Amino acid sequence: MEEMRSFGYICPKCGKPVISQRSTFALTAAAARMECECEKSMMEVQTDGVKFRLWVPCGLCGQTHQAECSADAILHGRGIGLGCPKTKQLCCYIGEELVVENAMEQLAIRAEKEKTENPEAFTDNVIMYEVLSEVKDIAARGGISCGCGGTDYSIQVHRDAVDLTCSRCGSKLRLPAATDEDLDRLCCQMKLIIPGR
Ligand SMILES: [Zn+2]
Ligand SMILES: [Zn+2]
Ligand SMILES: [Zn+2]
Repeated sequence: MEEMRSFGYICPKCGKPVISQRSTFALTAAAARMECECEKSMMEVQTDGVKFRLWVPCGLCGQTHQAECSADAILHGRGIGLGCPKTKQLCCYIGEELVVENAMEQLAIRAEKEKTENPEAFTDNVIMYEVLSEVKDIAARGGISCGCGGTDYSIQVHRDAVDLTCSRCGSKLRLPAATDEDLDRLCCQMKLIIPGR
């Protein structure tokens, strides 16, 4: 019988655990996409034969995390967990069906708890999510820089805004992230310049 591997994550949009199974053969043959029932989040898995690259929607912080694992860890053994770099907690499990199911049950409880303890982390979760992915897109194009000439920066996420802080001079650019207008304004920008000296 062909070996099956399970993949589990918590959907950041609807909060449900998403568990999908793929055969090891299918995993090595082609990229896999595993979607939540609500169709609003999707985990992607690609391989070059040696390593696997994964894009994991994170039920804890709402972002999508990219991770790289050895093919051996993905295809064999009991399983591995992937961590959320923001909350430093596990947000995804890959491995044997039972291990993944157990892990996802615990994860769902933890994600739910996180939500009730922090019911309104953001003014509007969807807008915040979109703003952050827009910032990520602009960053991916190399579009974020500072007036001081610096190109290194850090991102701080607040309830209704995102700050980009220049690592060189400490200047800040605040991006409001609470309303549709905030998002529209950001979407038409090719570049973000932190007003540094
Ligand atoms: Zn969902
Ligand atoms: Zn996360
Ligand atoms: Zn600067």
